[in-house]
Amino acid sequence: MLRSTLLKLSQSKGFANWVTTNPRTRNMSHRFVAGEGVDEALAAARACNDQGMMASLDYLGENVSTTADAQHSRDAYLEVFEKIAAQRLNANVSCKLTALGLDLSADFCEGLLLSIVERAAATDNFLRVDMEGSEYTQRTIDLVKRVRSQSPAIGTVIQAYLYRSEKDIQDLLTFGCRIRLCKGAYKESPEVAFEKKGDVDGNYVRLVKMLLPSGFYHGIATHDPRMIGATIRCAAENKISKEDFEFQMLYGVRTDLQRRLVKDGYRVRVYIPYGKDWFPYFMRRLAERPANVGFFLRNFFR
Ligand SMILES: Cc1cc2nc3c(=O)[nH]c(=O)nc-3n(C[C@H](O)[C@H](O)[C@H](O)COP(=O)(O)OP(=O)(O)OC[C@H]3O[C@@H](n4cnc5c(N)ncnc54)[C@H](O)[C@@H]3O)c2cc1C
Repeated sequence: MLRSTLLKLSQSKGFANWVTTNPRTRNMSHRFVAGEGVDEALAAARACNDQGMMASLDYLGENVSTTADAQHSRDAYLEVFEKIAAQRLNANVSCKLTALGLDLSADFCEGLLLSIVERAAATDNFLRVDMEGSEYTQRTIDLVKRVRSQSPAIGTVIQAYLYRSEKDIQDLLTFGCRIRLCKGAYKESPEVAFEKKGDVDGNYVRLVKMLLPSGFYHGIATHDPRMIGATIRCAAENKISKEDFEFQMLYGVRTDLQRRLVKDGYRVRVYIPYGKDWFPYFMRRLAERPANVGFFLRNFFR
């Protein structure tokens, strides 16, 4: 119920405006967002590297409504690849296709995406296309496949809560596509997605068992110790080395677990969001964990 309400509110422009202009709530965004500028994100990536972790930088923005805004997002992605290279950071980049105009035109979006992937390839780097709500799943997969046929410096994300994900993984693996597996963060109907946590978790483990032995390098994105344990067991059973996959976690979430995995010799990448358009991302993080709402209210009324 609370999750549903928060996810619904994440699409409210009025609430977004109130939260992002209020100095107290703006300050709270730092719990999950590195900052509004690229330099803060680069500093957070440097701090991760210093602790033995990799990073993925995400310039926040989604569902842009003009081609000029989409081009502005493209420019931000091109800039961050240059800065990562100049500062010799161990970091790649994550992006959302609705920030690149997928709602406006698939062809236009593909052109921007290709230019970013070419910059990724030119700087010996990699672009991960995040997965958004299920109305975008097929279009995202189609675009990623088309761009990947021109450059391998692109991968995408599969969400374990969708019934279709097993088939999508089979499809993407035939293209040698690198996949990040996550549980899924959007509000979905029971027609397309598992509702119960136990079912999502069961599917997550099934999909890990497809990904790890596939021979390609994938990202296992979760903070759930049971999913992490299942991944470690699957790797051991299939004699898959710690070098052949990575765990991924969100900036500001379970930093204790991030450090423990590094200590145990696993590869860990931290997803670092930055930018002014942090509201929907922030709301999804609140929705994931009811205790985060308590944190929000306590800080607000302090
Ligand atoms: C690197 C990365 C990239 C992602 N990319 C996408 C994407 O492209 N598309 C998409 O739909 N989703 C994405 N997600 C979000 C994902 O789908 C889940 O919503 C989120 O990771 C919570 O699921 P969980 O696996 O951590 O398990 P859960 O069962 O939700 O949580 C397990 C435990 O992790 C901790 N935890 C989880 N979330 C939080 C939080 N917000 N704050 C504090 N503690 C928390 C809690 O201790 C919780 O008990 C991504 C997640 C990660 C880590």
